[in-house]
Amino acid sequence: MYWQTGLIKSLLDPINLIITTDEAVVIADKYPKARHHYLVLPKEDIASIFQLSKKHLPLLEELHLLARNIIEIRGESYERFQIGFHAQPSMQRLHLHVISKDFVSSCLKTKKHWNSFNTSLFIPYETLHAQISNEGHIQRLPKDRVDELLAKPLTCNQCAFVAKNMPSLKEHLQEH
Ligand SMILES: [Zn+2]
Ligand SMILES: [Zn+2]
Repeated sequence: MYWQTGLIKSLLDPINLIITTDEAVVIADKYPKARHHYLVLPKEDIASIFQLSKKHLPLLEELHLLARNIIEIRGESYERFQIGFHAQPSMQRLHLHVISKDFVSSCLKTKKHWNSFNTSLFIPYETLHAQISNEGHIQRLPKDRVDELLAKPLTCNQCAFVAKNMPSLKEHLQEH
């Protein structure tokens, strides 16, 4: 099994499915980067955000509804989550990240992890929805832009603190 297709394999095992509807499922992220981290995936085989067009808007809305549902089921508040897509997706099958903003997790290890959720490499659901609805598609970021975002300083998502490395950022996040 190639790791890029791991998500598709997860979909086939009912034990992973927290919510299922006709259109989509919610699973727990195997390597949670925060206290709560879920993925909402369509059942339809859509590889990534780059395959999306206006006809997918109702599906996107369904994915977002399920994101709200899982937060509610867990008894958490919507404001404490960020919901969106990676601009540079690494795994096959479109997936919406539903992640709590604490980012306290042993699986959060690298600067790449941090910056892929806390820079423009993370596209909030509303932004993506608006872009599909206005332009009909999502454009891939140029590679040098991706590299630039990945190299950004480790700025806390909850205050102005800038960490010098990941261990110090992780320690800092614990204090929030
Ligand atoms: Zn992802
Ligand atoms: Zn902070």
